[in-house]
Amino acid sequence: MCVIIPFVREHPHVNAPPTYGYLAKSVFWLIAAWDETDGYMAPNSSIQLSFPEKDIARLTFDLPDKGANILSHPVMEELSEHLDALAKRDDIVGLVIDSAKPAIFIAGADIREFAASMEVDTKRTYEMSRWGQNLFGRLKSNPWVTVAAINGTCVGGGTELALGCDRRIVSTHEKTEIGLPEVKLGIYPGWGGTVRLSRLVGLGNAVKMITSGESVTPAKALELGFADDMVPAGELLPAAIRMIREESETLRYRSDRTEQATPISISETELGFLGATASAYIQQQTKGRYPAPLAALETLLGGSMVSAEEALELEANGLANIFGTPVNAALINVFLLTDRNKKDSGVEGDGPQPKQLNSASVIGAGIMGSGIAAANLKRGLKVKLNDANPEALERGTSHVLDEVSFDKEIRGKNVERAIHFAGRLHSTTSSDELVDSEIVIEAVVENLELKRKIFAALEEKLLPSTILASNTSTLPITKLAENLKYPERFVGIHFFNPVRKMKLVEVIRGEKTSDETAATAVAYAKGLGKFPIVVNDGPGFLVNRLLFPYMNEATQLLQDGVDMKRIDKVAVKFGMPMGPVALYDMVGIDTSFYAGRTMYDAFPDRTLVSPILPALIKNERLGTKKGAGFYNHEKKKKGRPEPDPMALELIAKYVSPPEREITDEEIEHRLILPMLLEATRALDEGVVRDPRDVDLGLIFGIGFPPFKGGLLFWADTVGAKTLVEWLKPLEALGKRFLPTESLAEMAKQDGKFYT
Ligand code: NAD
Repeated sequence: MCVIIPFVREHPHVNAPPTYGYLAKSVFWLIAAWDETDGYMAPNSSIQLSFPEKDIARLTFDLPDKGANILSHPVMEELSEHLDALAKRDDIVGLVIDSAKPAIFIAGADIREFAASMEVDTKRTYEMSRWGQNLFGRLKSNPWVTVAAINGTCVGGGTELALGCDRRIVSTHEKTEIGLPEVKLGIYPGWGGTVRLSRLVGLGNAVKMITSGESVTPAKALELGFADDMVPAGELLPAAIRMIREESETLRYRSDRTEQATPISISETELGFLGATASAYIQQQTKGRYPAPLAALETLLGGSMVSAEEALELEANGLANIFGTPVNAALINVFLLTDRNKKDSGVEGDGPQPKQLNSASVIGAGIMGSGIAAANLKRGLKVKLNDANPEALERGTSHVLDEVSFDKEIRGKNVERAIHFAGRLHSTTSSDELVDSEIVIEAVVENLELKRKIFAALEEKLLPSTILASNTSTLPITKLAENLKYPERFVGIHFFNPVRKMKLVEVIRGEKTSDETAATAVAYAKGLGKFPIVVNDGPGFLVNRLLFPYMNEATQLLQDGVDMKRIDKVAVKFGMPMGPVALYDMVGIDTSFYAGRTMYDAFPDRTLVSPILPALIKNERLGTKKGAGFYNHEKKKKGRPEPDPMALELIAKYVSPPEREITDEEIEHRLILPMLLEATRALDEGVVRDPRDVDLGLIFGIGFPPFKGGLLFWADTVGAKTLVEWLKPLEALGKRFLPTESLAEMAKQDGKFYT
């Protein structure tokens, strides 16, 4: 069906009724006032009818009090009523459909309505699909021509509506994008999208757009034949009127209607080739975990060989099979997590207004500092980059400029971008030049004393309003702020590596961090396109605290004699992007060892101290950065690193296998359940304010499988009772497997993490 992409730039404020028990909008139409110039202006209406010229109708989407146009059921009903009324008229030659929102045409269907419909049976899903298909089909059922005038985001149901029209004009606005991202929610377009797109842009292009869920630019939409014209946003309406006049003369749209009702002309050989290559590619990408793209492919191929009407039938039937499945529910949860995050100010209640920041200073031009500087520049902030070491500063500056001048369109460096951003970046070895900063983010080496010294020296010189932040991954924020004069303006802003790719940011509150500072850090991180979660100070904050038990248990499994490749394979099969042993190599064995010490100091009762890590460090097996750790990264087999022979020798010294056989199920439980138990402790301690922050944090911080909806969402699908049963046989291994009080209580009450 027709959705809002999880990451639309201007997110919709969705506030839909939980069921389809909508009120008939006709009441509003009865009391609508007639306005001589603008036409019907129904109070609270979402679509306004007007007549830019006597014989040309215009339906303008503008949902009251919402940032975006969303196709909820009542809005669709309203469209239906307009079409009923227009169908009765014989004095019009065309209809323009557009939006009054500044950079959104239609951002898709109402996901909350979807979420509330997860339990409906296949018959009901089929009917929902047929209803939407028919509604949009009516746009081509009148003698007159319809034109969609698209400015801004046009995705999901918005694109399906546009496909229902005879013609489409797109604006050149930078926010204009066209997409059918339904597969990202575990479904596919079910309001005619698969049928109408493939008949418009060709089967191959439709397969690509629908199975990837990726949007295209207006220029690409024009090239593909989705759009018939492209004009600046301000010229959309005149262009649409012109197009209606032309089409009314030539009547070309009528022959197109006839042609598009027939099967697609494609040879069997071509069809076979397309099917085989697309299905191989999809299987390689999804690894069988995301069924929607393959289901979409099947529908597209099947629908190409029959009439449009039969293809619509196929589309609706196929959709009914994937709507409401566990993967669909999990992906919808991920969408809802991100949507909730976008609305969360980071502090309780109304809270103070965040400060608007237009510039940022970054101290430390290493891996993280240069990534943070680039992220700021790309989002329009001016940046000062500081490093005490001139060579490191030069290296860092060049990294920043390389990143910001990369142009996705040409897949290479764009000189104009480089010049533009170079003018907004100031690199300096002198911290005195940071005195007028609005925010200072420190990203120097992980050393408490050094960081404290830097902040103490700076605080004297900075404006009292400047926010001070540290990107530390382990040091307590409260301790870092201990000697500051104004600790209330100090906060942790923990970016993840690589900053360019990782959407998560932990905003860590020290004991004295003020609400205003926390809210400003949250708004600032959102401005950089990140998902910030507010976390209270504590060892490992949230994400590393939960990741640690997963990695820690892997060392014990190795000591139990389980092969490292098998451990990683089980984790990957569960859906983790990487097994824990491979992750040790990526993070660095030394870094992991020091992080482990912090965790041991904090939680000695449940932290294992393995002799394997120090042995590897002693033998210079530090991980990927040194070419070898657990795995040897220099001698790969079929592109994959094999276990390092020396690492195997070192591990062998500490192996003492238990008498029982260790099954894959036990490995999975031993890796995932300690992470879950730690999450319950973090919740009990109030490290985060809501279980949803745990799920968002793990999905976007460590790549916890989105098709499971998040750690706690997954736990809810398993059920607390079952989880406690899974833990029982493991309890003998140590305290780390004892159910926490809150989990035990949840099992007793049949409770859930998500309320
Ligand atoms: P890095 O070693 O790559 O860079 C640190 C930079 O700080 C170096 O360029 C160094 O010259 C500079 N520096 C040292 N002392 C300085 C001073 N007095 N004034 C100015 N500059 C100084 O380190 P990194 O990996 O970028 O890590 C930086 C911080 O980010 C650490 O606190 C780390 O824990 C945290 N962090 C790292 C990662 C990661 O994966 N690397 C992830 C999240 C957070």
